[in-house]
Amino acid sequence: MSQVDEVRAAADIVRIVGDYVKLRKSGANFVGLCPFHQEKTPSFAVHPVKQIFHCFGCGVGGDVFKFVMLIENLTFPEALRRIAEKVGITLPERVADETYDANARVRGELFKLHEAAAKFFATQLSGTSEGRTGRAYLADRGLTDEVVGRFRLGYAPAEGQGLFRHLRDAGFEKELLEKSGLVLYEAQSERPYDRFRRRIIFPISNESGKVVAFGGRALGDEQPKYLNSPETPIYSKGRVLYHLDGAASTIRKLDYAILVEGYMDCIAVASSGIENVVASCGTSLTEGQIRLLGRQSRRVVVNYDPDSAGVAATQRSLALLLEEGFEAKVLALPGGLDPDSYIRKQGAAAYRARLADAPTYTDYLTERAATT
Ligand SMILES: [Zn+2]
Repeated sequence: MSQVDEVRAAADIVRIVGDYVKLRKSGANFVGLCPFHQEKTPSFAVHPVKQIFHCFGCGVGGDVFKFVMLIENLTFPEALRRIAEKVGITLPERVADETYDANARVRGELFKLHEAAAKFFATQLSGTSEGRTGRAYLADRGLTDEVVGRFRLGYAPAEGQGLFRHLRDAGFEKELLEKSGLVLYEAQSERPYDRFRRRIIFPISNESGKVVAFGGRALGDEQPKYLNSPETPIYSKGRVLYHLDGAASTIRKLDYAILVEGYMDCIAVASSGIENVVASCGTSLTEGQIRLLGRQSRRVVVNYDPDSAGVAATQRSLALLLEEGFEAKVLALPGGLDPDSYIRKQGAAAYRARLADAPTYTDYLTERAATT
């Protein structure tokens, strides 16, 4: 991502405009009194999904950069810097063009490397004898070959240098392997080894469908149970939602998203024909993830694990969602089941029925208070 794209992705226009104009929600949009012409009734609208503003009175409109340029009377680079400050992104003091080019080149190479790694992991799962344990695990969890293929699931071999050799032989340089975080180097000997070993691999894509990171689930009792890629020039954990690339068009069409916690929950829901589901891949939602979601819809059903950690995560996430002007519902499944286990035990139709009956956050809190 270029720095302009990074700032654009992190900035929510509703929030930025809200610093200057008092906005209120009106249908899918936010409206207020236009700051660029005199008026008594609001004709100034902000579209959270399209991330644009428009005034029906004086005709002014554009994206978040245009808004800040106009209202603060700034040039584009100044507005970029101002918005970056607001969203907590530090831009270098002065960025030479070569630095932009070098960063863009590294990012491009990292996308290629991750695509090569995803293919390697998939082949290990489908075509090796060691991958058989991985296939058995996934089959046991009810995942068909079709679903495994669709989510590009893979397997990282136990031996520990397979991915390294594959990427090296494909021509990727050591510097890039290090930057990807997929190959680590021992401190003294500089001996390379793979980050993911003996794990089921879940490729994580950005919103445009490019693989930017991996999650790995231990097959045995190894700790941690889930291991993730580190932060890299193409991956920031708090700014990615798992399966958003696959879910976005359905979220827009149905005008709501289902938010679950883990990869397996997300795959279980999506593969039962309910496509508008994304996973936060962590116990609580970040502001960056909420902004990503807000571009598709401002309505969400939160379906986190109902254990005690899950309840706390649900409450933190809901507080953030409400702060950002989302309409939120809560789906707490009976019997202490997560979405994956629930769908396997009760089926997709039962899950759909629960989904349709999910109470608003307020009703959920009232019910909880009444039963405890
Ligand atoms: Zn106006």
